[in-house]
Amino acid sequence: MSTLKIALDGLMNQQPVQATIENDPIKFAHRYTDPNDQELAAIFASMLAFGKVSLFLPVIERWMSLCDQRGGPRQAVERFSVADFTVFNQLSYRWNKAPDFTLIMLTFREVLKDHDSVGSWVESLYKPQDIDLNDTLTRMMNRLQSLAVSISTEAGCTVTTFAELPDGFKRFLSSPAKGSACKRWQMLMRWMVRTTAPDLGLWNLPAAKLTIPLDIHVHTISQMIGLTTQKSANLKAARAITDQLRTIAPDDPIQYDFALAHLGISGQCQKAYNLQICTICPLHELCVHTKGKQPQEQGDRS
Ligand code: SF4
Repeated sequence: MSTLKIALDGLMNQQPVQATIENDPIKFAHRYTDPNDQELAAIFASMLAFGKVSLFLPVIERWMSLCDQRGGPRQAVERFSVADFTVFNQLSYRWNKAPDFTLIMLTFREVLKDHDSVGSWVESLYKPQDIDLNDTLTRMMNRLQSLAVSISTEAGCTVTTFAELPDGFKRFLSSPAKGSACKRWQMLMRWMVRTTAPDLGLWNLPAAKLTIPLDIHVHTISQMIGLTTQKSANLKAARAITDQLRTIAPDDPIQYDFALAHLGISGQCQKAYNLQICTICPLHELCVHTKGKQPQEQGDRS
């Protein structure tokens, strides 16, 4: 077994999934039992999953509460109308303001007019010849962008092109077509496609074709353990890391994402050598920060 696989399997076994979920936006999908609610909760939660976890979790909580007051995420989307526009007046996060939330609800309402679920729609966009699911994601973003433009008049901001929509809304629908890592959408795909905890496995797409959701933690730790030399956290870097993971887990390369991300989010990895932390870190044999340390500095692991 390769050193990389031993290290990453060790890390996965060390991270307690159930306890860690509480500090992860996927918890909002687990709040529901109906897959129709779960997929929309996951979509909305992933959209706001940027910046500090401690800052975005309360905002997602308020979004979910507003949905719950309307029967849950699925009913809230299906029945969303002009009468509901004011519900988001108190909701904002960074560049996302009330009109952005209103328009995204309307956009997914349009998706559900023609499909039983968001998942069945996404599955219809997948083509077996796609190299990875970024092709599917690109088609998804193109369609969502078109739907948003077509519904813009109802939202009170008539436009003829996606470029004219508010900046905050446009950031909801970033596409991998322009080389962005699209961390939030890749994370959603992981949640919806992978079938083992903490992921939900609701969408029938190949896990082998997922791309790692590249946040600052995953990117930095991946650099430290030699998974990529790419300096920018873009799609190229995400694909390079995923390709490395594919060599040890071809059917499910991003099974390690949750553990890698939370090694950073938790503060357990300080991205620098720390005797007490690094000696018990499963990645220590690969990590650039433990290279050149004397055995006594690395601690007695026997
Ligand atoms: S710096 Fe230490 S804790 Fe972080 S990955 Fe390297 S060995 Fe592990």
